[in-house]
Order: sequence, then C-alpha cells, then structure tokens
Amino acid sequence: MAAREAPTGAGERDMAMDGKPDRGRVEMDSEECKGCGLCVEACPPKVLLLSDALNHYGYHPARYAGVGCTGCGICFFVCPEPGAIMVLRLAAAA
Ligand code: SF4
Ligand code: SF4
Repeated sequence: MAAREAPTGAGERDMAMDGKPDRGRVEMDSEECKGCGLCVEACPPKVLLLSDALNHYGYHPARYAGVGCTGCGICFFVCPEPGAIMVLRLAAAA
C-alpha cells in the first residue's frame, strides 16, 4: 500500500534533508494521475506520496514531498500515465 500524505507537509525547500542540494526535480500533473501508487512505491528516497485531495477523476494523485529528489527517473519509467510525471535533472552547483 502506498504511503498517504503526511500531515506535516514536507515543505517546499531547496535543500535535501541531509543539507545537500537536490539533484532532481519532479513535476507531477495531478489531473493526469490515476493514483495507482506505483511511483510512490518505486521511489528510492521515498519522496513521493499520495495526496489526501481528490483530482477531477476522483483519484488521490501522487505528489512530490518537495525535497530529496535525486533525479533518478524511476518514477517516470514506472508510471503508466503519459504526462503524469516529468523529471528534471538539476545541474550541480559550480
Ligand atoms: S526521480 Fe527518482 S528520486 Fe525523484 S521522485 Fe522520481 S523516483 Fe523519486
Ligand atoms: S503519477 Fe503515475 S505511477 Fe504515480 S500514482 Fe499517478 S498514475 Fe500511478
């Protein structure tokens, strides 16, 4: 069972919890998501969760906790819905 949204709200910070900058950014289209939870289960650092809110299809869409994405792209490859997930790899700071 995929994790549901934590009440704390992880915040929209720029730095990962270990103090290092995030290496990736994941952008989710909540209206394209069917709430299957595959991305939530597959994400190695566990930075995706299912929202408490419903989208217009009546699913709990996946969302990014806001910090900790490594840019690995696994969520993109496991998602069955075209257009639900986009992963951007961030350039390392100079
Ligand atoms: S790109 Fe990797 S680390 Fe980032 S949200 Fe997707 S599975 Fe998780
Ligand atoms: S983003 Fe894709 S893999 Fe993740 S819950 Fe939604 S439909 Fe499933």
